[in-house]
Amino acid sequence: MDCIFCKISKRLVETELIYEDTDIMGFKDIRPQAKVHLLFISKQHIESVEDITSENSHIIGKIFQVVAKISSHYNLQRGYRIITNIGEEGGQQVRHLHFHIIGGEPLKKEIN
Ligand code: 5GP
Ligand code: ZN
Repeated sequence: MDCIFCKISKRLVETELIYEDTDIMGFKDIRPQAKVHLLFISKQHIESVEDITSENSHIIGKIFQVVAKISSHYNLQRGYRIITNIGEEGGQQVRHLHFHIIGGEPLKKEIN
C-alpha cells in the first residue's frame, strides 16, 4: 500500500487532523500555499474526480457540506477556494482524490 493519503486515513502517518467521520478526513496541508490550506480526502481510495460513481458520489457531497460547516472556524468567512487537481496535466501529485481548501487571505485570480 503505497498511497500516502490511504496511510493518513488509516492513521499510519501523522497529520494535523481537523475533521474525521466514517467517510472523510480533513487535515492541514504539509506545504501550505496560502495562510489557510486544508485538504479533505475520501477515506476510501478513489483516484480522482474521474472515478466518481453513483456508489461513491455521496462522499463528495459530504466533503462540500462539511467544508461549508467548518469554514468559519478556519478564518475562511470572507471566502476561499476549493481546488481538485486531476491527472498529469492537472498537476495531481497524490493519486488519491482530495480537495484543497485555500484561503485566509485574498487569492490571486490566475488559474496557473
Ligand atoms: P496535489 O498536487 O496532488 O493536488 O496535492 C497534493 C497535496 O498533498 C500537496 O499540496 C502536498 O503538500 C500535500 N501532501 C503530500 N504529502 C502530504 C503529507 O504527508 N501530509 C500532508 N498533510 N500533506 C501532504
Ligand atoms: Zn489512497
